[in-house]
Amino acid sequence: MEHKQDKLKEIISHAKEYGFVFPSSEIYDGLAATYDYGQLGAELKNNIKQYWWKSMTQMHQNIVGLDASIFMHPKTWEASGHLDAFNDPLIDNKDSKKRYRADVLLEEHMEKINKKIIKEVLKGKKRFGDTFNEAEFRATNPNILRNQAKIDSVKTSMKKSLEENDLEALRTLIVELEIACPLSGSKNWTEVRQFNLMFSTDMGSVAGDAAKIYLRPETAQGIFVNFLNVQKSGRMKIPFGIAQIGKAFRNEIIARQFIFRMREFEQMEMQFFVPPGEELKWYDYWKIQREKWHKNLNLGEDLHRFHDHIKLAHYANAACDIEFDFPMGFKELEGIHSRTDFDLKQHEKHSGKKLSYFDPERNESYVPYVIETSIGLDRMFLAILSASLKNEVLEDQSSRIVLKIPAPLAPVKVAILPLVKKDGLPDIANELANQLKFDYNYQIDLKDSIGKRYRRQDAIGTPICITIDHQTKEDQTVTLRFRDTMKQERIALADLQGILENELGWKKLLLNLA
Ligand code: ATP
Repeated sequence: MEHKQDKLKEIISHAKEYGFVFPSSEIYDGLAATYDYGQLGAELKNNIKQYWWKSMTQMHQNIVGLDASIFMHPKTWEASGHLDAFNDPLIDNKDSKKRYRADVLLEEHMEKINKKIIKEVLKGKKRFGDTFNEAEFRATNPNILRNQAKIDSVKTSMKKSLEENDLEALRTLIVELEIACPLSGSKNWTEVRQFNLMFSTDMGSVAGDAAKIYLRPETAQGIFVNFLNVQKSGRMKIPFGIAQIGKAFRNEIIARQFIFRMREFEQMEMQFFVPPGEELKWYDYWKIQREKWHKNLNLGEDLHRFHDHIKLAHYANAACDIEFDFPMGFKELEGIHSRTDFDLKQHEKHSGKKLSYFDPERNESYVPYVIETSIGLDRMFLAILSASLKNEVLEDQSSRIVLKIPAPLAPVKVAILPLVKKDGLPDIANELANQLKFDYNYQIDLKDSIGKRYRRQDAIGTPICITIDHQTKEDQTVTLRFRDTMKQERIALADLQGILENELGWKKLLLNLA
C-alpha cells in the first residue's frame, strides 16, 4: 500500500516536471480537482483520443462521430433523470472531518475481504502446483467460503438500501461493519445525505429559472437528442453507433487522487443503437471489443478486470466496469451499460417528438435499445502513465527512468540528435526534420552528451532516437536507438521512413482490432 501511494506521488511529480500535467491556475495555488495538460500531456491526450476515435469510427463501418455542445436545453436533464437522481450518498467522519461516498466505503470494505480470498487462492496455487483447480478450491475452501459469504451479504444489503434510497440503512451498514475512516481510524459517522453533482450557470442576462442551464455531466445526452438527425442524414441502418469525445462536468465532493477524479474531465462515449431484445447480445459483444482495445496496448499482465455493477442505474438492465489496477488499486476506467430504451423514450416524452426508427428488415417501427461504452480520457491517461513509468536498473548497475508508452501514443515520436553542434550535422538534422514533420512529432536536441540526451528522451517516452554523426555525411546512414531495448542499429536514410512507419504508425496497432 505504502509503495503504491509512493507510485502515485512519483507519477504526479514526473508529470509536472516534464510538462504532462500541471495543477490548474497554479500561480494562485491551484483549484481543487482541476488540472491542465502541458505540452506533452496535450499530445498524449490527443493520441489517446485518436486511438479511440480511429478504432470506433474508421474501424467500424456502422459507427459515426458527433461533436455536440456542452450546453443543452435544460429539459434534457429533466428527461434523462439527472436533475432528480444524479446524486452521490455522502457521509462525513465527525473526527477527521473528512467526507466519503458511502457506497465507496462499502466497496472498499468488500475489496479488503476479496484480497483475503485472493491470498488464499495464491496459497492454494502454490501448494497444489499444476493440479490446482481454482474453481473447485473456491467452492470448497472454508476460509474462502466464509469470506465470500461476508461479501455477498454486504452486497445484498448495500444494493437494497441504494435501490430503496434508504440512507439510514446505508449508515447502519457502515456502522455495523465497523468501517473506520481510512485517515483517522475513527468510526464516528454522520448521517448519509444525497448530493446532486450537476453544475449550473445562468444563460443570457435574464435571471430566473428559465435561464438556468447545466454543464453536461455526461456527453451521452448530446448523442441521444441527435439520434434521428444522424440516422436520417447519414442514412444509418440499425444496428449503428454514434461516438463522441468531449468535456463533462461533475461537482465531485470527494475529488482526490490526481486526474482520476476531476470536476472537469473528458469522456469518450459511444452509443450503439440496436433492436429491442438484442441488447444483451450486443452488450456482450461490446464487453469483448472494449477489453480487446485495452489489452491491445500491452500495458502489462493482469491490469484489467471486469466488475459487474451492484446497483444498476435507473436506466440500465445490465452494466459493468472495466477496472484498471491504478496506483490506488483496482478502480473504474470504463463503464459498459445496457441503457435500454430509457433515454430515447424519456426524450420523446419530454420533447413531444417521435424518436422511433423504421426497421425495413423487421418491417416495423420501434424505439431502439442502446448499449453504451463510456471511458474517461483522463483516467485512460493516468492508466497509461502509471503502467508505463518505470525505474529500470541496467546491466552496468546504473538506472534510468523510462516511460514505455505504446509507440503510436508517444507525445514525441522521434528525437533527432546531431552528435556534435558543428561540421554541418545540425543542418542535416534540420533537413531530416523537414521531411519527418508531416508525419511525426519530433524534437531536435543538441545539448549535453548523447547519453544524457537519450535519458531525457526515455523520460518522456520517445520511442526512437536518430543520431547523426560524421559518417552520415559520407554514406547517408544514421543510428537508430530504440527506447525499450536500448539497442542501436545503423541504417540507410533511404530506409528510415519505412522503419518509422512500422514502429510508430497506427496501422500495426489497429490491425489487431480489425
Ligand atoms: P465513479 O463511480 O468512479 O464516480 P461513474 O460510475 O460515476 O464513476 P460513469 O458515469 O460511468 O462514471 O462515467 C463514465 C466514465 O467517465 C468513467 O468510467 C470514468 O472513466 C469517467 N469519469 C467519471 N467521473 C469522472 C471524474 N470525476 N473524473 C474523471 N473521469 C471521470
